[in-house]
Amino acid sequence: MNKAIFFDRDGVLNIDKDFITDINDVVLYEKTPDIIAYCRILGFKIFIITNQAAVARGMMPEDKLLQINEAYKKLLTKQNPDAIIDKIYYCPHHPNANVEKYRINCECRKPHPGMILAASKEFNINLNKSYMIGDRMSDITAGSLAGCKTIHCLTGKHTEKPIISDMKTDESLKPDFLINNISELREIIK
Ligand SMILES: [Mg+2]
Ligand SMILES: [Zn+2]
Repeated sequence: MNKAIFFDRDGVLNIDKDFITDINDVVLYEKTPDIIAYCRILGFKIFIITNQAAVARGMMPEDKLLQINEAYKKLLTKQNPDAIIDKIYYCPHHPNANVEKYRINCECRKPHPGMILAASKEFNINLNKSYMIGDRMSDITAGSLAGCKTIHCLTGKHTEKPIISDMKTDESLKPDFLINNISELREIIK
């Protein structure tokens, strides 16, 4: 079986600008490509696990998001050829979506663990040996429900109120690790 690192995108790998609808709006944190390469060289599969409610809100079509995903991967490998993402999983849904097609209480929108579980099936991942890294408690909840070790990254929106979800926030949930930024992953994952 494989082990994996699941990264939330906005606020962990790049600056969270609420809604990114163009690749030119992506500003990677300086160390992101090197850290992804570092994890990959250690033998981890690398995934991005991202809620993209901009699609549900009608701010961009799903096709546009797919283009951004491809461009995002290129942005990483341009800076470090080993910064390869195995797959980007995204949730285009929202319980209050403007676009009817996406207006559902799905199993993929974090804090639900659906995207992580899908990756584990598709890539034969041992979730107990894997990590979920995010800046919001919804990331930590999703990782914990999936059976991963969880890392709360104190960049991004870690102090904001919980995202809208049909799932109640568990206030007592604690991440396994805290880091101030993605560079500190080197102290946890060796
Ligand atoms: Mg985030
Ligand atoms: Zn979804």
